[in-house]
Amino acid sequence: MDNKQNDVTLNIEKIREDFPVLSGKVHKKPLIYFDNGATTQKPKAVINRLSSIYEKENSSIHRGVHFLSGEMTNVYENARQTVADYLNAADKKEIIFTSGATGSINLLAFSFGEKYITPGDEIIISGMEHHANLVPWQMMAERKSAKIKVLPVTPEGALNYDALEPLFNEKTKLVAINHVSNALGTINNAKKIVAIAHKHDVPVLLDGAQAVQHLTIDVQDIGCDFYVFSGHKIYAPTGIGVLYGKEKWLEELPPYQGGGDMVDKVTFEKTTYNEIPFKFEAGTTNYIGAAGLSTAINYLQVLGLQNIQAWENELRDYMIEKMSQMEGIQLYGTAPEKIATFSFLLDNIHFYDAGMILDKLGIAVRTGTHCTQPLMQQFGIEGTIRASLAFYNTKEEIDIFIKGVEQVKMMFG
Ligand code: PMP
Repeated sequence: MDNKQNDVTLNIEKIREDFPVLSGKVHKKPLIYFDNGATTQKPKAVINRLSSIYEKENSSIHRGVHFLSGEMTNVYENARQTVADYLNAADKKEIIFTSGATGSINLLAFSFGEKYITPGDEIIISGMEHHANLVPWQMMAERKSAKIKVLPVTPEGALNYDALEPLFNEKTKLVAINHVSNALGTINNAKKIVAIAHKHDVPVLLDGAQAVQHLTIDVQDIGCDFYVFSGHKIYAPTGIGVLYGKEKWLEELPPYQGGGDMVDKVTFEKTTYNEIPFKFEAGTTNYIGAAGLSTAINYLQVLGLQNIQAWENELRDYMIEKMSQMEGIQLYGTAPEKIATFSFLLDNIHFYDAGMILDKLGIAVRTGTHCTQPLMQQFGIEGTIRASLAFYNTKEEIDIFIKGVEQVKMMFG
């Protein structure tokens, strides 16, 4: 990540007005929403886009000769182009719309598993994966009698890159690693992972669920073979997500689900499949979600991703400074390359109690394992309190949050 403090040109107070939820109250206190790692709030532009479609434009795509169907198809395919441009994919046919990061990884785990995995083959993941990038691979491994190998995580919460190379052998078929850790906030060195894997002719999947909303992503520059993310974590609706795959892989991979739209010719004896990306989009897709995702991406682009990153870095540094002045707090995930996500525990206080008290103060944080149970096991803990910030958060909110944490300590100390 660019750690340089760019001139921050965002008017955060004004931007907050774009997000209706942020002016709400919880337990009669102004809401402080620090749970952006779980899901982000939606700007009016996205909310209005969805209702405008339902009011004026809705029609099922791809199959109609009538006006609305044609228009909606254009909206959907333009959304695909918007995503392709956002990720700098070489072609929009490399963008498959799915239900989310989980849906994308399950698609790939099935399809890649069917095509390329034979008994004894190996997949490399890391010790900091979200269950979404672990369980689908385990299920595939069980089906195909394959094996999962795990790249270890350092005590600071970074990947142990030195341990990556020795994990490869002639049986290694795929590396699947998150770009940014949801539990720790660590930004992983995607280019380094890809360089090592490609030296062994092994493709790489990056789980970008916590990266696309914070970093500039260029899949061609990174060189990854697959990249996934969820719309709802990038200010877009729920139920829409993306699987990017290099054309050569998508051409080779078999479809995941069968149904309408993914076919070319169907007889009772045999079916041939549609071209990519449609081969992977069976049934009526979430075309309205795709339109919302496109609007969300446009919204971010108007603000400027550089500006967003600069402000989020400033928030991150401010939070680190404040937390470092506190006693009785342990931060998990102290690697220098990190987003503004903070997993922590307070001496002798259960994370659940802390979360409950913070909630009473109007502060929304997440508590628990963050769907990374093996990582929690490595740290020897049952879970953490996680504050995950977005560009619409402010230093004043951090001050209130820090006071809130002090209050929790006083209550239980
Ligand atoms: N990967 C990571 C790193 C995540 O943070 C999440 C969501 N917390 C997912 C995958 C799964 O995303 P979704 O539930 O939207 O499919």
